[in-house]
Amino acid sequence: MKILKDISLKKYNTFGINAHAKYFSEINSVENLREALRLKQYPTKFIISGGSNMLITGPIDALVLHINIKGISIIEENDNTVILKVSAGENWHELVMWTIKRNYGGLENMSLIPGNAGTAPIQNIGAYGVELKDNFMSCEAMNINTQEIETFTKSDCKFGYRDSFFKNEGKGKYVITNITLNLTTKNHKLNTSYGAIEQELEKGKITNPTLQDISNAVITIRQSKLPDPKLLGNSGSFFKNPVISKEEFGIFSEAHPEAPFYKISEEAYKIPAGWLIEQCGYKGKRYGDAGVHKNQALVLVNYNNATGKEILELANRIISDVKDKFRIAITPEVNIIK
Ligand SMILES: Cc1cc2nc3c(=O)[nH]c(=O)nc-3n(C[C@H](O)[C@H](O)[C@H](O)COP(=O)(O)OP(=O)(O)OC[C@H]3O[C@@H](n4cnc5c(N)ncnc54)[C@H](O)[C@@H]3O)c2cc1C
Repeated sequence: MKILKDISLKKYNTFGINAHAKYFSEINSVENLREALRLKQYPTKFIISGGSNMLITGPIDALVLHINIKGISIIEENDNTVILKVSAGENWHELVMWTIKRNYGGLENMSLIPGNAGTAPIQNIGAYGVELKDNFMSCEAMNINTQEIETFTKSDCKFGYRDSFFKNEGKGKYVITNITLNLTTKNHKLNTSYGAIEQELEKGKITNPTLQDISNAVITIRQSKLPDPKLLGNSGSFFKNPVISKEEFGIFSEAHPEAPFYKISEEAYKIPAGWLIEQCGYKGKRYGDAGVHKNQALVLVNYNNATGKEILELANRIISDVKDKFRIAITPEVNIIK
């Protein structure tokens, strides 16, 4: 296996941060991964896949393993469902396109989410009313200490909103090598309830949408809302939408009756972090090359040469101002790499 030295990670992370890796290696197979993890002369390893959910704040003094294991296989197909095993290094959006082409339903609402398939379980990716967990069966992951492959069922993964076992107890302990998904081959359960999708379908006068129609609608909506990382460095939504208790919501809504919210349950309310940030005056603000996107306050951007530290400083200032103004703690969705 080839170990490269002092490699810029600028093209490996969608924020476009020009941080350097002390050592770097492409991982093309599970065997390759095992071999790399066993290299004693590089005691610290760091895993990177699509680099679309991380803010690198300094040089990475480790052996960076770029997960590039490819392959999609059909494990089982019957009249109604198909089970797919997808290697970790497959690009997520290309996988979604692959399934739609074969009329396999379930992933269409998650079109155009950047990143790789193997990373999807980590934050239980989701968009437009659908989350990975809705079609997820299991995944395999290599234990970093033992280099053994372990299988995680859906319940082992403890999926939550942008959350899973791999973000908590399992953090830094495993490298996911493949995921197994269960999709429909007919009688697809289409999810068009998200307002913007309905409107987009109406615009196209589509009354009986196909998987492709929904995917097209999602792509159009996403392209109109989110900056393309190829043109403007970013990591999608930088912050999670905070979930507050009924009591906290009572106080908040009395002070801010105009604020948007989603009732999650009798006890919990979700407040759009983008709204909170916008109210603090950050939308469209730029500080050097670090900024807040002009159309979407939830997205922090790198205009070109911002460092990870500068983006992090801006994020921390936003967190502090939101806390002062609303008494609500917002937290990053993006992994901060220190
Ligand atoms: C423009 C834009 C829009 C986005 N929209 C959405 C959205 O709608 N919904 C959503 O949920 N997310 C969204 N995201 C976030 C991102 O796409 C997802 O979190 C994605 O799953 C990250 O995948 P990745 O391969 O790029 O992960 P990376 O950024 O490479 O890695 C993320 C973390 O996982 C670790 N890691 C990487 N690979 C593995 C592995 N195989 N095993 C174990 N650990 C690993 C890394 O060390 C890091 O800590 C968006 C991002 C961008 C840039």
